[in-house]
Amino acid sequence: MIKEEFVSEDKNVVKLIHDDGVESVWKFNSSCEGTKNMKAVLFVSSSLGCSVGCEFCWLTQNEVRYKKISQETFIRNIKDSLRWLYDWGFEFESYNFKLSFMGMGDVFIESFDIYQIGIIALDEALLYKFKGLDGIDICTSFPKTPFNNHGTREKFYSMVELNSVAIKGMYSNRLNKNNDYSKRSFVRLFISMHSVDQYTRALLFPNSVGINSIGAILDNSKISNKLNLIFHYIPFKNINDSLTQIEDIIDFAKKYNAEIRLLRYNENYKNKGFIESPRFNSIVDIFKSRYHKVKSQVSIGKEVTSACGQFMAGSVKTVEELKFEEKIDGVFLNVDYNVDIQYKEIILDKDIKKFYDSKDIDLKYLKNYTIYKGIELDDKLYVQLSEKDIDNKMREYYIGQKKLASMISTLKSKGFSDDDINNFILHCNSIKVAKSL
Ligand code: SF4
Repeated sequence: MIKEEFVSEDKNVVKLIHDDGVESVWKFNSSCEGTKNMKAVLFVSSSLGCSVGCEFCWLTQNEVRYKKISQETFIRNIKDSLRWLYDWGFEFESYNFKLSFMGMGDVFIESFDIYQIGIIALDEALLYKFKGLDGIDICTSFPKTPFNNHGTREKFYSMVELNSVAIKGMYSNRLNKNNDYSKRSFVRLFISMHSVDQYTRALLFPNSVGINSIGAILDNSKISNKLNLIFHYIPFKNINDSLTQIEDIIDFAKKYNAEIRLLRYNENYKNKGFIESPRFNSIVDIFKSRYHKVKSQVSIGKEVTSACGQFMAGSVKTVEELKFEEKIDGVFLNVDYNVDIQYKEIILDKDIKKFYDSKDIDLKYLKNYTIYKGIELDDKLYVQLSEKDIDNKMREYYIGQKKLASMISTLKSKGFSDDDINNFILHCNSIKVAKSL
């Protein structure tokens, strides 16, 4: 079951919170330059939070709790995400489907059967009549586990099997026609590289194996002959953005014929010294001038304030809020608070409460309503309610621009300053209305 849903303003990113708290994210535009074909990428999480504890990750810095999920839950979350897209009215026929194991968690530390999960996801996606299947991307930092060698071998085996079933087997006539699968694998292995210097890696990935071990894993498995390898690299200021670090990564990538992807980093207030290198653009140029297999992220990320380990949500709104905005012209609803004596509590945004307090307004308290914003005027309490509340309670009615304008003028006549009023309106998230004033 999907518990919460968020959509970015441009509708290119959807974040879904499942009932167990695990996140999945749909993304419908490309995050890298040069990749333009229409893809619907489902980012899935292999745990709630993550036990790997990479120092730069949003999950680590915010001490998000870790909880394992079962394989059944993993699969159910994929199915629920597809179903959600269907209910959203998505145009499946225009998009190719990609599954990306790059949500919360690292699938290499969990005991999942990647082959089985992959097959079920592809079958399920085909039921929804996607235009085609684009691929499966799997990312790891090679976390240390007691079963390292065995676990890694098993995962590689699953991935190679999945790749060959997709390209030569039962999905071969459903592949994305824009890709040449004789030149690229259907399943691709992404490695969180960020540095090939042992000390820097120990700082970034205290719980993942060292660079020599990664080299040994790649050499022994010869995985780069079977699947495309892609190294992720985020340039952090004064940590891994020196020319030496860059050259070393390029050399390592050349050895394994790996592509390099430069990723953006969105700092959060607990960034613990990790900030994106201010030389990001010139670093991209250096990489490109020295190696032909380099792509850089034009982001999706910054625009939805997403960070490593999460797609969060500065500029995204809940689906409920979007529907609410679409449905009404004005923003406020009018509730006569004398109607029901059960109204006991009003939940207000902190700043709005401060605003009321400063005006010495005695608010009546409402119960059972999720009230995002409210304002008391004359004998009425003006509140914005969620659509669910509107469906449940029939007492409210919409007010449109005209009524709102008259309310604003009443507010002015009562001595509220323009700043106060604008502040209030901005806090109501009603930019549309603010502009029309
Ligand atoms: S970067 Fe990935 S593997 Fe590392 S802690 Fe974050 S989610 Fe886990």
